[in-house]
Amino acid sequence: DRWKDALPVEPPRPGAKNPLALRVRLAGGAGDGFDLTEAGTKKGLAVHVVRDPAEVPGVARLGPDPLDPGFGLEDFAALLRGDRRRLKGVLRDQSVLAGVGNAYSDEVLHAARMSPYKLASSLTEEETARLYEALGDTLRDAVERSRGLAAGELKAEKKLGLRVHGRTGQPCPVCGDTVREVSFADSSLQYCPTCQTRGKPLADRRLSRLLK
Ligand SMILES: [Zn+2]
Repeated sequence: DRWKDALPVEPPRPGAKNPLALRVRLAGGAGDGFDLTEAGTKKGLAVHVVRDPAEVPGVARLGPDPLDPGFGLEDFAALLRGDRRRLKGVLRDQSVLAGVGNAYSDEVLHAARMSPYKLASSLTEEETARLYEALGDTLRDAVERSRGLAAGELKAEKKLGLRVHGRTGQPCPVCGDTVREVSFADSSLQYCPTCQTRGKPLADRRLSRLLK
């Protein structure tokens, strides 16, 4: 989370204000090390000490890094081909692509002007290229903005750069339409109807279940 050249000597006091999960002090150094924190009520942090990251089962299952210079349009097209799931689900599936997640899958789809419900296998060549470009641009921009920031500042900076994710009810910075939200799997997604779904609101399955 945050590297410290000199960890405090006094023992840490974890609590609601200090969600410390692990403190690592490196042997032989001058008291340098780092703290790992985990905020929120749902705890899912796991720590592995290995010589090679590929020894961690979760890492070994990860898909390619979309920012890897070797990850080209053809590789991306091959990932989508034959995948009959919705784009939103495919983009944030860590075994398909590493590191996109819930927030940036919303952002990538908005940048590509594509519906999150569109089926991956239905994309034309032109659409695949547009999505590939939006993926690279969005992630590169996010990496650029987070460069040099401490862990504590990352969240605020990430939020500033988001156009639709977490912005339900606010105007789309591109067209001014109101950003909408629908439930998706275990969470929700945000999108702009004008930019992404020809102005049509997506059906919320959670809502239609209630109305039945
Ligand atoms: Zn818009």
